[in-house]
Amino acid sequence: MSTLIEHLSSSAKTVRKFFSVPSDKPDLVTAQHKAFQSQMPLLYIILLTNAWILSGSFIHTAPALLTLGAPIVLTTVGCIRVSRWWLSRGQETAPERARIELTRTNMLAWLLAVLFCTWALSLYPYGEWSQKMQIAFFMAITAVGCTFCLLHLRPAAVAVMVTCNLAFFSFFLSTGNATFVAMAINMVLVCSALLVILMINYRDFNALVESRQVLFNEQAKTLALSNENFALANRDTLTDLPNRRSFFAALRAEVARTDLGDKKIVLGIIDLDGFKPINDTYGHMAGDALLCQLADRLQLLAGGDIRVYRLGGDEFALLQVTDDINLATEIAEDICVAICEPFRLPFCTARISGTIGMAVYPDMAQDERELFENADYAMYRAKRGTGRGAVRLFSKEDEAEIKRCSHIEQALKIADLDNELTLMFQPIMDISTGRPHGFEALARWTSPTLGRVGPNEFIPIAERAGIISRITVVLMRKALAEAATWPDHMHLSFNLSVFDISSPDALLRITEIVQASGVDPARIELEITETAMVQDFTTFLLAVDTLKALGVGISLDDFGTGYSSLKQVHSLPLDKLKVDRTFVSQIDENVASQKIIKSLVALCNDLNLACVVEGVETEDELKTIRQLGCHLVQGYYYGRPMESTAITDFFQGLEEEACARASL
Ligand code: C2E
Ligand code: CA
Ligand code: CA
Repeated sequence: MSTLIEHLSSSAKTVRKFFSVPSDKPDLVTAQHKAFQSQMPLLYIILLTNAWILSGSFIHTAPALLTLGAPIVLTTVGCIRVSRWWLSRGQETAPERARIELTRTNMLAWLLAVLFCTWALSLYPYGEWSQKMQIAFFMAITAVGCTFCLLHLRPAAVAVMVTCNLAFFSFFLSTGNATFVAMAINMVLVCSALLVILMINYRDFNALVESRQVLFNEQAKTLALSNENFALANRDTLTDLPNRRSFFAALRAEVARTDLGDKKIVLGIIDLDGFKPINDTYGHMAGDALLCQLADRLQLLAGGDIRVYRLGGDEFALLQVTDDINLATEIAEDICVAICEPFRLPFCTARISGTIGMAVYPDMAQDERELFENADYAMYRAKRGTGRGAVRLFSKEDEAEIKRCSHIEQALKIADLDNELTLMFQPIMDISTGRPHGFEALARWTSPTLGRVGPNEFIPIAERAGIISRITVVLMRKALAEAATWPDHMHLSFNLSVFDISSPDALLRITEIVQASGVDPARIELEITETAMVQDFTTFLLAVDTLKALGVGISLDDFGTGYSSLKQVHSLPLDKLKVDRTFVSQIDENVASQKIIKSLVALCNDLNLACVVEGVETEDELKTIRQLGCHLVQGYYYGRPMESTAITDFFQGLEEEACARASL
């Protein structure tokens, strides 16, 4: 008994579930609601058309309550439902709302089906044979028509189908009339087939909604993934600042803006000074920590108006749209001050500085590329000049300078290097003997279009344009050919660019030229700047090893300008340090410079290196240098760079001087 009750209750549950709107499938309910909404007016058109035509047939035979009353009530219900549909057209219905409305429709379907059948069958006694046939026709066509309209709403469709069939079958079977009985059986069979079609259709509809939902979820996942990728591609993973790609996109977007009005786009490019030695000395962890702290500082100072980007390495950018250039410059200056504040790193405290080059659009550039290049150029100029650690706004002079650089580059590219490049030679004196230790070869270029262009100008341009190696080859051949004519003890100092030592090909070419020259490699000193060493220490070390294997000497040029560490100097097989001339200027009056030179001389003695002091111009400077223990000196005091033809005269002059001194 209890199993029967259980069975009955479970069957009741199944039936209830079958006839109710699912609460766990919001997407299905919403889709059903939408589908039904589009069919609903047609449903009422079918219903009302059929009802009014049937009532018209009975208008003279049946009571007005049946022929007019019932259709009027039905029309009112239909009008209310259709007008509500009309008002809610195009609106999205929330799943819960859709569920309520569909539940109501399901109940209404039972009610209307019962009312319709009752109404139609209650007209039966008032009609003659043909009218009775019309009732049967009305009931059948209405049931089929409405079921089709309710195809997506299974409970309502089944309700209509079952109610109409029950009423139709039981009523017409009870008439005992053979035609009606046949129609009743016919109706049940057709409707059963229709019911199967309905079930299949409903199952397919359900599957379609589910697969659409799966597709939608997949799309949402793909979109989320692509958003994540976009964020990753546009952010710097170390500092979490927007990265270079993001910077250029923002710059492009700002320049493309048409609503700038009086406002300008101010771009600042920050380059750190002294960051690389921190990385090299304390390791990358310390360098990374410094960059992260710096990013926080920059963001704090920049506030909401200025966007901060990391362009890569130790380069950052500030982007602002403003009408107050002075304020933007002041903020940049504050940022420079903030960069100089010490950074507390895991195992040390470090200090660096930052140089900011600034340019303004549209005042100083015509497009985003030019704006970036000009800000970058202002920064480069500041770093090369005296502007390290400060802000430098792109100027008219910079513009002229860029034009000149471009002319120089063009002229260099088409230059007949063998004929246009020459060398001057400047003596390096051994002041303990009063005789020259050797000569430094210094490049000169006379362009047919630009005239004489100094090496300080054309060498950096040639480096940037990628033609320095060609220049080095020409100059080196000429310098060695000249040195081959000198006395055997005379040294040749030759300047190499950082690009000459950073490629194996270039090093091979240098090796070949030295070997082919016939000059004893022991007489050759190759000068490489301290800045080149700091830029890429590993490459520098490799190059020095290769060149030393050739038998030549290596001098570290412009020492004191490149922020190298003692550790680096110590770990290289160097032969000489050439102390930059900035430490020598008026050294006789400058106690600080004297101390620096003294400690550098001590350093060279400790490391067993020779020391050349550059830029000695006056007798007083020479005296001071001598007192500080230096032996090798280069500078205008002894001789300016001279033509090769003047070297013999120079030797002769020295001999005569020595003789004159000896005869005194
Ligand atoms: P540097 O290697 O430091 O060469 C010394 C520079 O200082 C030369 O300028 C020289 O004329 C100048 N100088 C020498 N004594 C004095 C002095 O007492 N007072 C002053 N005020 N200046 C003095 P220069 O010839 O104009 O060369 C400039 C720079 O161009 C060189 O600096 C070097 O870095 C580069 N350079 C010159 N020739 C070559 C070359 O063949 N290859 C490469 N890669 N660079 C070169
Ligand atoms: Ca030099
Ligand atoms: Ca130098």
